[in-house]
Amino acid sequence: MTTSSQNRTQTLIDEFVTRFQTRPSTMSVAPGRVNLIGEHTDYNDGFVLPVALDRDVRVLFNRRADRTVRLYAVEFDAWAEFDLDNLKFNDEHFWANYVQGVAWALMERGLALTGIDGIISGNVPRGSGLSSSAGLEISCAKALMAAANQLDALPGEQIAKAAQHAENHFVGVNCGIMDQFISTLGSEGHALLIDCRSLGYELVPFPTGASLVIGNTKASRSLANSAYNERRAQCEEGVRLLQSVLPGITALRDVTSEQLETHKDLLPPIIYQRCRHVVTENERVHATVDALARGDLAEVGRLMNASHASLRNDYTVSSDALDAMVNAMQGAEGCFGARLTGAGFGGCAVALVAQGQEAAVRDAIFEQYSKAMNIWPEVYVSPASRGAHVVDLT
Ligand code: ADP
Ligand code: MG
Repeated sequence: MTTSSQNRTQTLIDEFVTRFQTRPSTMSVAPGRVNLIGEHTDYNDGFVLPVALDRDVRVLFNRRADRTVRLYAVEFDAWAEFDLDNLKFNDEHFWANYVQGVAWALMERGLALTGIDGIISGNVPRGSGLSSSAGLEISCAKALMAAANQLDALPGEQIAKAAQHAENHFVGVNCGIMDQFISTLGSEGHALLIDCRSLGYELVPFPTGASLVIGNTKASRSLANSAYNERRAQCEEGVRLLQSVLPGITALRDVTSEQLETHKDLLPPIIYQRCRHVVTENERVHATVDALARGDLAEVGRLMNASHASLRNDYTVSSDALDAMVNAMQGAEGCFGARLTGAGFGGCAVALVAQGQEAAVRDAIFEQYSKAMNIWPEVYVSPASRGAHVVDLT
């Protein structure tokens, strides 16, 4: 653990003591993530390549003998309490629904849980596309499992699936599986290649000599929801039209770019463009994995730039803010490549940067992005970090 991480833990222990007048026994930690490449491929049964960040959501807790879960959320300065036998949607504290949803999904999978007293605190920016929500879910899942002495009752993939189920069906947010997977299964110095159809996964060594610099545009993502649903429908339409000549396909994952070019005339231009993004993006994910294996950072950067161009021109999910952020990154000394990351329309962009050049890229962002957009951004530098874990505080 780094010094700043230890300091944060100590601050949170003090906070727990203030709130509960006793020390916490245990802390669970689950990171946020950034997707290196593979955008809008998950719901097309395709491939994604996320990395866990050194920013996380933490739950410090003590086990209780009864069925009550009592939580204080530091960043919201708010308490929530619920009974494991009587879960109902919390209209007052939205964040509490992630915790309840996870408890519900774990119990549905046969785990016998017990109550906890806990505090929650995270330094993953909330609502910026770095998946503070998955960090919260996985941290809570591990806390509840550890409190009940059931930490080994489910493998990581199942914890991730339970958390996704909770977000989809208890919280009511339509998310894929990537965020929960990487938060649970991430590993220091690695990216995680996930096959969103089979849910097979593979750790991919992330080259030493490279850092991730993330620029938060701080711009509104208000368009993202409706556009997301529209893009999904357009992909389904593309599959339906292509099935007339490619009867074996069930998702764009099954289509190669040669096939798409051959049958281009079957598709209205806009559907063709959407399909072209997804099909080429899946190919770029595999090419990125190959380039990482060779340590070819220049090629990874080129693929990231191509991904951004495809998201901007074919999938049209970029924005002025994201383009300004990516331009500032791509033009900076030491940047191999950069792209928007997440659903688009706002949120963050990610750059692959030569180690030692992080500050140059950060300075270029502050200087150029703030001038272009008149918004003060945030910049985070992160190595590829470890996934969720539980720390004994006694
Ligand atoms: P993202 O996952 O991109 O950060 P979401 O909108 O999916 O954005 O999730 C953000 C929500 O997750 C917050 O509004 C809050 O309800 C919950 N959350 C995230 N971090 C925390 C935290 N530290 N404490 C309490 N709730 C949190
Ligand atoms: Mg989220």
